[in-house]
Amino acid sequence: MAENIRVRYAPSPTGEPHIGNVRTALFNWLFARHHGGKFIVRIEDTDQQRLVPGAIDVILDSLSWLNIDWDEGPRVGGPYGPYVQSEKLSVYRQLAQTLIDEGKAYRCYCTRERLAQVREEQQRSKVDIRYDGHCRHLSPEESRNLEAQGAPSVVRFAMPASGVTGLHDLIRGDVEWRNELLDDFIILKSDGFPTYHLAVVADDHSMEISHVLRAEEWLPSTPRHLQLNYALGYSPPAFGHLPVIFGPDRAKLSKRHGAIPLLEYRDKGYLPEALGNFMLLLGWALDDKTEIMSLQTVVESFSLEGVTKSSAIFDREKLDWMNGVYIRQLSPEELAHRMLPYLERDLPGELLPVDVDYLGRIAPLIQERIKLLSESAAMTAYFFEDLPEYDPSSLVQKGMEREGALEALRAALEQLTHTGSFEHEPMEELLRAVGERLGLSPRQFFGTLRFAVTGRTATPPLFETMEVLGRDRVLRRIQTAIQRLSENQGDDQQ
Ligand code: GLU
Repeated sequence: MAENIRVRYAPSPTGEPHIGNVRTALFNWLFARHHGGKFIVRIEDTDQQRLVPGAIDVILDSLSWLNIDWDEGPRVGGPYGPYVQSEKLSVYRQLAQTLIDEGKAYRCYCTRERLAQVREEQQRSKVDIRYDGHCRHLSPEESRNLEAQGAPSVVRFAMPASGVTGLHDLIRGDVEWRNELLDDFIILKSDGFPTYHLAVVADDHSMEISHVLRAEEWLPSTPRHLQLNYALGYSPPAFGHLPVIFGPDRAKLSKRHGAIPLLEYRDKGYLPEALGNFMLLLGWALDDKTEIMSLQTVVESFSLEGVTKSSAIFDREKLDWMNGVYIRQLSPEELAHRMLPYLERDLPGELLPVDVDYLGRIAPLIQERIKLLSESAAMTAYFFEDLPEYDPSSLVQKGMEREGALEALRAALEQLTHTGSFEHEPMEELLRAVGERLGLSPRQFFGTLRFAVTGRTATPPLFETMEVLGRDRVLRRIQTAIQRLSENQGDDQQ
């Protein structure tokens, strides 16, 4: 593409962004990076009633967590600022005034009551509900009088009453709207703030945005934006509307199916690269089979031709599967590094701080099984606990007596106290022989031993676990198990 590519993500800070919002950011970012263009973040905060304090930070943090970086915008600045719409109200007011002066917009003094009445009548006569253009035809004198009386007003755009507005959408193809069906929408509100329509057109122009890639829900607004561009003498950017994301039930994506704040995915233990890959496939495909693609490699191949026209389906199981794939691709050191914040969050305070070298040896043991990083503490707590808590009777495996379990533990203790190496292979060989000598099946002997050293019935391979736990912990835990089981037996006899 020869021209300068400049695209933007233009969130309204009305809450925490969820996957649908950030998917838009991702596609814009990929488009910019693919073409060597600029990716801009602009905050559209002109609807003051809907502002949520702190939302801007959450939006920016969500992008940063996914490694989506921006060239211009809040936190980084840039030559086209300010990047927050509420900081440039005078620009929009000036534009509205210019449109009024040129007869392309007008002040509307209609009261709420009048508008409600018009709506009711339209409802009754079953015609489309829209502003009836009453103030478009006020004489200059009538307007002057209303102004003199101090009547509050908004500014409406004078939509062409006939003809069609056409768009060649880069994703959806040709779309046309009959102008007579579009109403004289408000561009400046009575509080002096512009509406989204005016601000978006003004900023896309002043920031020299070349392509507007946004969710399909904005498609009905596009003829308004095009007409505003024409009225202001701008040449509009190219538009592409991204497919809607549905839940597995084919309904609008609900909370239950994934429309949760993006950072909750982080808290639940998804890797940003897995979520990025997953979001990419919500409306884009490289071919009909490739699923695992890092965003870095997709930068090379990303194009709007790959955007699907049909709606995208959010499939949580696929996301979980993908997260597992990405977890298994990490080096053990990297996995340990990723697990650390979750352990710091979830382990009881007395087990902190986590010994990072020790964690580096634990991580590979669970790498095959962990699906979400938020499982880190539950899956590894017994490595950090001083002595795992458990019901001693669980040390006794099926088909064994307490005495047998005690004998097994004593024999293991004896063997492990005197063995030279604590590496898993020789240790396993030695203990297998002990089990056989005692006439126990591996399930019984190793079951008792596993429970004694971890307090769990299911763990990563026992001898590798013991090797990582180390001689001191293992011996102490077996001694404690012997003690607990002996005491437990006493209790039983009472
Ligand atoms: N501020 C709009 C939003 O919150 C942006 C729409 C657009 O990209 O034009 O989604």
